[in-house]
Amino acid sequence: MGLSVRSWVANEGGKHLVLMLWLGANTWLFLRTFLLYSTGQQYHYLYKMLGLGLCISRAAASVLNLNCSLVLLPMCRSLLTFVRGTHVSSRKTRRLLDKSKTFHVACGVAICIFSVVHVSAHLVNVVNFSAGYSDDFPSLNLALPGITGVVLVLILFLMFMSSSYCVRMSNYEIFWYTHNLFIIFYIVLMVHMVGGALKYQTNIEAHPPGCLGANQSSAQRQGLEDLDQAEDEESRCREEAHFQPHYPQTWLWVSGPLCLYCVERFYRYIRSSDPVTIVTAVRHPCNVIELRMLKKNFKARPGQYIVLNCPGVSSFENHPFTLTTCPTENKKTFGIHLRVVGDWTERFTQLLLPQPTLNLEILPMVHQRRYPNDGWTGFRLQRLYFVWVCRELQSFYWFSELLIALHHKLWRENRPDYFNVKLYVSQTDSLQSISEEKYRPLTSRLLVGRPRWKLLLDEIGKANKHKRVGVFCCGPKGISRTLHRLCNSARPSGATFEFNKESFS
Ligand SMILES: Cc1cc2nc3c(=O)[nH]c(=O)nc-3n(C[C@H](O)[C@H](O)[C@H](O)COP(=O)(O)OP(=O)(O)OC[C@H]3O[C@@H](n4cnc5c(N)ncnc54)[C@H](O)[C@@H]3O)c2cc1C
Repeated sequence: MGLSVRSWVANEGGKHLVLMLWLGANTWLFLRTFLLYSTGQQYHYLYKMLGLGLCISRAAASVLNLNCSLVLLPMCRSLLTFVRGTHVSSRKTRRLLDKSKTFHVACGVAICIFSVVHVSAHLVNVVNFSAGYSDDFPSLNLALPGITGVVLVLILFLMFMSSSYCVRMSNYEIFWYTHNLFIIFYIVLMVHMVGGALKYQTNIEAHPPGCLGANQSSAQRQGLEDLDQAEDEESRCREEAHFQPHYPQTWLWVSGPLCLYCVERFYRYIRSSDPVTIVTAVRHPCNVIELRMLKKNFKARPGQYIVLNCPGVSSFENHPFTLTTCPTENKKTFGIHLRVVGDWTERFTQLLLPQPTLNLEILPMVHQRRYPNDGWTGFRLQRLYFVWVCRELQSFYWFSELLIALHHKLWRENRPDYFNVKLYVSQTDSLQSISEEKYRPLTSRLLVGRPRWKLLLDEIGKANKHKRVGVFCCGPKGISRTLHRLCNSARPSGATFEFNKESFS
């Protein structure tokens, strides 16, 4: 199936534009610094002594400065939530903001790659320094910022290793705690350059790089006997070369984003200290717990998630859960459906059920997915297709009441077409049916096996010719990959499918 340019631009355009800008900024910074150190007069003697290693180490350092400052911005989640909710951000911008984690990862990978380049170039510098050291310029020594550099590399290595997919999947806590070493990383990074390892020449006018010293003549230097005395005088140094260490620049790059991030963390801490009351906790089939909670001045909109912190389980761990019920004017409670999958969810459930402890403190706060109140007037939802794939039949009971209530409401309002439900049960062995009469609207929409996504999207496309269809996927990577590919492909209906996903990993 061919690619639809319109769909591709809608789904990938913004992301690729940001990628190009970021790559462009990195390349420009690398080349600019490289050229500065290789051709700059003030680095003439340093370059002569260290060679290309100098240019590469400095160019990599400037790229590191850029990425160390950028990597923090996508993690300012409250700030992004705020930007998302303002009228300044368009629908495209909001979809870009959803990819903030990918940008964080890209910056992180760039930091690791350029750290390797930086360290390798410094090792070459050490070798070249011992080989090319000149007694003429004793002040031009190479004081490597050794211990801080080693600490930085060590922290980065730990963070990189613990961020791998298998560590995050098997033990999220290792990833979480190791990632918090970033605070030490930034402190050490700021003192890394304070030692003044690199020096530039301050008196280029009085001592043009390459000029003749007091005891030298150009004839001696070039091995020629017949050079003019006047020419000799012209190229003679008027004074010794003076060198001065560079003013450390890293803090200029990182202090702004770092302060912003600290303010963000502090804000999150303040917001999370308001207590929350658990109103109900219901156990559903397949190890799912439904929680209804109440918190003063808590506002949220569909699609947002909250972060739970339960000091009774661990004060340091925060776990995100998508809101399944939002507070309204009439009903202030909000709810989540939590699946018990690992140690935190298990201990949390044990504390909560069967005997909820009264002094349990849970501190939710809202992140991400904020929509402007009237920013959607041009995009009135015309029809909702709800496709839900579950392994076991029992899972449909989590939201069965809600789905039935919605079904009856729309029939009463004479808009049965508005909400199109398709339920798929993928595990076919020991299959039973939902037998109770009250679930009949769901039973008639229940299919066995997996959805044939292409046919489904074609069918939706035909019913919505030349329209924009938002696709929101929450589920395993396999499904989201298939849907993403199908959304980008061309179809005769001319409908544009805009792909959005929520990933739990
Ligand atoms: C945006 C978002 C929304 C989510 N919404 C829901 C929801 O509505 N219902 C639901 O049941 N689950 C949801 N999850 C998943 C839920 O956060 C994890 O299942 C939970 O944190 C598992 O913790 P654990 O220690 O019990 O399990 P673990 O065994 O430690 O982890 C099990 C899985 O959860 C992931 N995980 C663990 N801790 C975190 C964390 N702090 N942040 C992100 N991922 C983590 C791990 O990578 C692993 O894949 C959501 C996750 C995200 C990122």
